[in-house]
Amino acid sequence: MTMMKKMTCLLILPVIICSITAFTTRPPQKPVLRTIIIDPGHGGFDPGTEGLFSKEKDVALSISLKLGKAIEEAFPDIKLVYTRTTDIMPGNMPTKGQGLHYRAELANKSKGDLFICIHANNDGHTPGTYAVHRVIGHKYVGKKKKRRVPIYETYYVKNTRVGTGSYIWKADRNVFKGKAISEAEGGGEVDDSTEKAANAFDMSSPEAKIKAQLYEKKYFANSALFATLVENEFVKAGRHSDGVMQRDEGIQVLQATGMPSVLIETGFLSNKEEEVYLNSEEGQDEIVRNIVDALRKYKDTIEGHAPGTP
Ligand SMILES: [Zn+2]
Repeated sequence: MTMMKKMTCLLILPVIICSITAFTTRPPQKPVLRTIIIDPGHGGFDPGTEGLFSKEKDVALSISLKLGKAIEEAFPDIKLVYTRTTDIMPGNMPTKGQGLHYRAELANKSKGDLFICIHANNDGHTPGTYAVHRVIGHKYVGKKKKRRVPIYETYYVKNTRVGTGSYIWKADRNVFKGKAISEAEGGGEVDDSTEKAANAFDMSSPEAKIKAQLYEKKYFANSALFATLVENEFVKAGRHSDGVMQRDEGIQVLQATGMPSVLIETGFLSNKEEEVYLNSEEGQDEIVRNIVDALRKYKDTIEGHAPGTP
């Protein structure tokens, strides 16, 4: 090891230790879950997916507003921030991309401790029942009857795919997330001098990078924990669950928020029965109850007290 390398190690080591102790010295009784961002998917000109009689943007909004009300009742100390409460693209942005940016920025500015996106799914087929073509033979066409073409038969298939799934951001696509984390934490959460906190925006400093990486690990673990608890509650309620998933291409809104973030697919609008369930009072109330039960367990776990105790 060269002298220069040794020097670098000696300089970096205290930074790592300081960053680690910043987590471990946090008093356990302090509530960690102070602000929750509720993000109803789509909105305004963007309907999301469509069932036989309903649109994802409306189902997502309805469930989100009910969820907010239930969280308010169960946890009156938690501050709630909605990315939208009416049928608009958040921030009245003209494009979906700008809408996603607005959602993430609002979440970061509000210093959210948890970001919950509510969506509904489709399986890629027409809702309800869809037509399928199958080859039942061949015939010869053309002047000399030499061209062989298939004969199709059309039949109809009921769209049966149902169930829930929760998405968390992919761990290896963390550059954007790291930047978002430093922005969200830069304003006051970082237990540093104000000068250093202001510098948290500068991701080029090794200190900021290490801090962001530590937060990322913690946020990823907490996102996975909350997503798992949510899916467990859905299963207990008798729903089919596809479990906790990570999308290959990443999900922009999850990548961009500097906090644990989960996108919940509450069910398939492309299935006739599940569309009815997702639009019913009972269905929405049950989904909300499941998420609030998961939230209670999540809060107890991250705040370090036994489940059920205040
Ligand atoms: Zn969606």
